[in-house]
Amino acid sequence: MKKKKISLFLFIDAFGWEVRQRNPEFLKDLIAESKPLETILGYSSACDPSIISGLTPAQHKLWSSYYYDPDKSPFKWTKPLSILPDFIFLRGRVRGHLSKWVKKKCGFTGYFQLYAVPFKELPLFNYAEQKRIWEADGLPEGETIFDRMMAENIPYYVHDSDIGDEERLANLLAHIEQQTIDFAYCSFGKLDALMHAKGNAHPDIGKLMQWYDRKFRELIAAAEENYEEVSWYVFTDHGMHNVTGSYDLTADIQSLELKWNVDYAAFYDSTMARFWFKTEAARRKIFQCLENHSKGRILSGAELKKAGVFFEDGQYGELIFLMNSGIQIAPSFMGEKPCAGMHGYDPADPDSFASLSSNKPIPESVTKIQQIHSIMLNELNLEGDASSSPRTPPASAATTKRRPPTE
Ligand SMILES: [Zn+2]
Repeated sequence: MKKKKISLFLFIDAFGWEVRQRNPEFLKDLIAESKPLETILGYSSACDPSIISGLTPAQHKLWSSYYYDPDKSPFKWTKPLSILPDFIFLRGRVRGHLSKWVKKKCGFTGYFQLYAVPFKELPLFNYAEQKRIWEADGLPEGETIFDRMMAENIPYYVHDSDIGDEERLANLLAHIEQQTIDFAYCSFGKLDALMHAKGNAHPDIGKLMQWYDRKFRELIAAAEENYEEVSWYVFTDHGMHNVTGSYDLTADIQSLELKWNVDYAAFYDSTMARFWFKTEAARRKIFQCLENHSKGRILSGAELKKAGVFFEDGQYGELIFLMNSGIQIAPSFMGEKPCAGMHGYDPADPDSFASLSSNKPIPESVTKIQQIHSIMLNELNLEGDASSSPRTPPASAATTKRRPPTE
C-alpha cells in the first residue's frame, strides 16, 4: 500500500549556483527546474534559521554565532582555562573535544563550535544558537516549519546534527521505506567541508556530487515506491569562494593601542569583524582605521537593513566590517590559518548565490533562500500567515546602551 504524499527537502551545504553549474550531470534527467537564490549576509548560523522560518536574521534574531555580552555570558566558568597555552587549544582534535565538553557544560542543544575563540576572551561573549533550531520553539523569535508541523501533527524527519551524511541518508531511507513520515528536511555537510579544505573547483567535488547523485536517486526511488506523490527539492544556503589571500586585521586594530574590553571589544569571524565600543574615542579610532581600508569595507546601516541583518540594539556589533571577497581574516576567532574555500562574503557575488532544484516547477516569486519556507508550507498545504510574522518581543526586553551600526 502506498502512502499519499511525501515532500523531501534535501540540503547540501554550500551547493551554490556556481558549483551547481559546474556539475550539470547531477540529477540531470530528474530535475524539472533549477535556479539561483540570493543568500543572506553571514554564515549558516544566519541562513539556516531563515530558510526554516521565512524570516530575516533581524526578525528571528540569529545572525553570527558569538556576540559581546559580558553580563550574561554562559562561558564565565571557562575563565581558569585561559592560563593554559593557546597552542593546545588550536589543535583541531583537541578543539573538537573541547567544543563538545563546553557545549555539554553550558547545556546547549544547538550547533556549537568553539572554533579558535581564545579562552581569554570567551567569557565576554554569548552564543546565539544555544537551542537546536530544528525542533519546536527553536528560534528566539518567530516560528519555523517544525513548529508548524508539530502543531499540525505532521510526521517528519529532520537530520541529527551529531551524525555524518551516510548515517543521515540511511535513517531517512528507513523512514521512507517504513512510510513513517510525510516530510523530510535533511542537511548534508560533506561538500561544504570538502570545499573549505580544497577550494570550489577541486576534482574531488565532481566525485562527491556523483555520490550524492547516486544516494539521492536511491531516496527518490524509494519514495516513489512508497508514496503516490513525491516532491523533492535539493537546495542550499550559500555558495563558496576560493580564498585568494589572508589578512591579519587584528594586528591593525591592536596597533591602535586601545584597551580590550575597556575601550572596545571585537569578534573576528572569517570574513567579517564586528566591534562594540565602550568609549567614543575607541569608536572614532576604529572607524578611522577601517574606513577606506584596502582589504574590506564598513557596512552602512542602510546596507545592513536591506540585507535583513540590522540589529537596533547592536547585539551583533555596532560596527560591521566585511572583508573583500576572497580575503580571509587570519588569524581570526574562527581559525588560525586561512582555508582554501570560504563563504560569508558579499551576497551579490556570483560565488555567494545559493541554488534550488526540484522535480516540480519553482514559483517565480521564490528568489531568496528564506522563501524556500513558503515552498515548504505549500507542500504541506499550510497557510503562511502564522509563521511569516515574527512574534512580538516581550515588553520586558532588556534595554542596552549599545548603539546600532551607523547609517
Ligand atoms: Zn561552511
